[in-house]
Order: sequence, then C-alpha cells, then structure tokens
Amino acid sequence: LKCSKCAGDAVIFLPYAKTHLCERDFNAMFEKRFRATIRDFKMIKKGEHIAVALSGGKDSTVLMHLLHRLKEDLPFELVAVTIDEGIKGYRSNSLAVAEKEAKALGIEHKVFSFKDRTDMTLDGIMEKKGGKLPCSYCGVIRRYLINTASREMNADKVAVGHNLDDMAQTVMMNLMRNEPMRLARLGDPIVEEEKLIARIRPLLRSPEKEIAVYAMLNNISLHFQECPYARHAFRAHVREQLNATEERYPGTKFRILNSFLAIQPMLRRGIESAPEMKYCKTCKEPSGTEQCMFCTMLEEIKEGGAMLNK
Ligand SMILES: [Zn+2]
Ligand SMILES: [Zn+2]
Repeated sequence: LKCSKCAGDAVIFLPYAKTHLCERDFNAMFEKRFRATIRDFKMIKKGEHIAVALSGGKDSTVLMHLLHRLKEDLPFELVAVTIDEGIKGYRSNSLAVAEKEAKALGIEHKVFSFKDRTDMTLDGIMEKKGGKLPCSYCGVIRRYLINTASREMNADKVAVGHNLDDMAQTVMMNLMRNEPMRLARLGDPIVEEEKLIARIRPLLRSPEKEIAVYAMLNNISLHFQECPYARHAFRAHVREQLNATEERYPGTKFRILNSFLAIQPMLRRGIESAPEMKYCKTCKEPSGTEQCMFCTMLEEIKEGGAMLNK
C-alpha cells in the first residue's frame, strides 16, 4: 500500500481520514497535531516551567520526547517528575525506563515516592485494606503528590499523557454515571488557585494507537507492563465499546472529544457559584472540604476505618 501524500510505502492507515501514510508523513502529521493542540489551547507560553508527569509508559514517554523537541522552537523549561507508588515488580521496571529516557534527553528528573511522603507504599496500603479499591487510594495519593512535586520543582504547569482514547472514555463514563460536575471539572479545577498547578494534556487529540506507532517508529523505549492492581472493570467495558464503535464509525472518538470541548464551557457557565476554596486543616493544601481527600485517606488507612466503603 502506498502513502496517500507521496509515493512512499505506507506504514499506517487512518480510517477517520481515509488516509494511508508513510513513516515520514505520519511523523509529520503526528507532530503537527501535537503542536497545533498546544497552540489552540494556549497550553505553554514562552519561558514557562513545565513538569511532565513521567510514568515510563508510552503516553508520558512520547509526550516528554515531543515536548523536548518543541523547545527548539518555543523556549521553555522542561523537567520530569515520576511518582513511585511502591508496587513491587512493576514500578521499579518503569522507573528504570523513565530515568533512562529523561537522561538521554538531558532532562532533570526527580522521583517522588508514596513511601517518603506517607510512610506507606501502595503494596503496604493494599495489605492493610485487603486489596480493596487500589486505584482509588492510588489515584488520590498520586494526584496529590504530582501537584506538590511539580510545585517543589517550580513548575507553572504539569503536562500529563492523557490521550484521545482516555479522554473519550472519561467523557462517556461521566455521562453514563450521571456526573455532570465531573465533566465540568474534567482537566482543570473550576477555581483557580496558586497552589494547584494547572494541568495540560497536549496528547488529548492523539489516538492511543498512533502514540504506540510513533514510539515504535522513533525508537522510544517504553515500559509495556500493566499495573498489577489495574482493575478498571467499567473503563475496560467502555474502552471495548468505544473501540468497536470507532471501527464501524471512524472518527467517533474525535467527535466525543469535540462534543465535550463544546459543552464544557456551557457547563461551567451554568455553575452559578463556584465552590469556595478552602485549605486542608491538616496539610494546608487547597481542598474543597475541611480536610483534603489525601489527609482523610491517610488517617483512614492508619486507623483501619472504611471511608471508601461507606
Ligand atoms: Zn508519504
Ligand atoms: Zn490535607
């Protein structure tokens, strides 16, 4: 099969664009879309400090490479932060990949661990909690640490590797669960607060499959292992359904993303009074409630309560 743009051999077919692309034209399209996304959403300004949340998986590793190359044309500072949850036989492998890739690009890279900040590893927490709700505990703690770590590294913004598939899945999941407030908040908090580092998602228009192809074509090392605690039953279901729909009706994922982007400002305008920003009584971080989720969760784990099961 031949490239639709030149006479070269095609390496990929994009059904939503009815286009075959050779390696060179695919790379060019993929990078152009990434740069257009940064520009369209005004994600990075000249001279800003950006921290990339680097897990060692394909999305964040490709994101780091793309950001590194973008610096040639748009000067800004780039550092990488990795959160070590303390998952035996999994995180140590991805940490090695993350370290190697950051080092190869000369990017300052720091690892922040659950253990240092909470005195517990995710493995330890799961032992205490009988293996229940690993992603809920992990999500709250990791989100908190990414925010404080990015701040410690003087970042103005933190770049996360969410891709088109993640976005379309999250939108659909929030609709199916009747969570309009989560849709309104998706991506950024409604209230701006200096201590909350803004998140940018430069890959939000990049399909997961294309990120994997880009990594392969550009010899980017990746960590492919899945987290041993991953048990996203509902997300896995939505992913499967979306992939099947995309196959029959190419472009569906882009249309879900674009609907969401069109609806979100209306949702936000519809929220009459933004919730007042409070500060956690325990750690002083911004929080919607008296005590933040992170501190409440740590207390609950240590005291053996069951906050999440209520
Ligand atoms: Zn071509
Ligand atoms: Zn707190």
